[in-house]
Amino acid sequence: MENQNALQNGALEGAAGNGGRSGDGSALIFLGTGCSSAVPNAMCLIQPSDPPCQVCSQSLSIPPDRNPNYRCNTSLLIDYCSSDGIRNYIIIDVGKTFREQVLRWFTFHNIPRVDSIVLTHEHADAILGLDDIRAIQPHSPTNDIDPTAIYLTRHSMDSIATKFPYLVQKKLREGQEVRRVAQLDWKIIEEHYDKPFVASGLKFFPLPVMHGEDYLCLGYLFGEKCKVAYISDVSRFPSNTEYGRCCIFSFSCVLTYIYTFKHFHFVGDVKCRDETSICYFVILMSL
Ligand SMILES: [Zn+2]
Ligand SMILES: [Zn+2]
Repeated sequence: MENQNALQNGALEGAAGNGGRSGDGSALIFLGTGCSSAVPNAMCLIQPSDPPCQVCSQSLSIPPDRNPNYRCNTSLLIDYCSSDGIRNYIIIDVGKTFREQVLRWFTFHNIPRVDSIVLTHEHADAILGLDDIRAIQPHSPTNDIDPTAIYLTRHSMDSIATKFPYLVQKKLREGQEVRRVAQLDWKIIEEHYDKPFVASGLKFFPLPVMHGEDYLCLGYLFGEKCKVAYISDVSRFPSNTEYGRCCIFSFSCVLTYIYTFKHFHFVGDVKCRDETSICYFVILMSL
């Protein structure tokens, strides 16, 4: 697959097919295409097998931008340039490796901020970096800044309220001291997921997919000149989820049998219905 390397690490893919972020136009930056524990696997490095795991031992010897075996949690940054030339930065998912992704790829691609956040679901590899959003927001000891819009399901909202109550709390309790935390404007995506929403000027159509048979995860269809479907965690497409007219799929494919109940097995499970579309399969896990 000619462009597979281009999708691996912090790489650009021009959404208008023009080869990336060279000034004008929109672009996609894959901040991570790795599994939930990311690659390399820490155990492969601290307790190496004999012979050592080739993937993980190689992962530290090549710079990440040229290394297919160094992968953070799955996440996409949309560098969206609207028709009036205004640029917005929209991130899908903020996982455990978010800080590392900022340090590696925001600096590499000169990304100055995040204007809005879209979440696929509430698993650790999609949300545990939310605390670090404050690190890329303007400094205010009193939290007196414009909050960053974040779009998510009601289920994700409820889960995050348990995991990060201080990010959700609206008002200080009596006697409670101000604590500087990420300022987020929570926006619940309507149930049934049949209506689009607009984040920083870009329209997103939710694509509900099964991530295991008892868990719903959202992918998203977006793009103007060219449609892009981003689906990170999927084991099965419900029949009412439209996914045919897409340019790019980013699938969370894993290679182990034990994981396949929550993710597609990577061989032959997915076909693009529109023959003019291009599918990219991003294989996420090393074994
Ligand atoms: Zn390994
Ligand atoms: Zn998940």
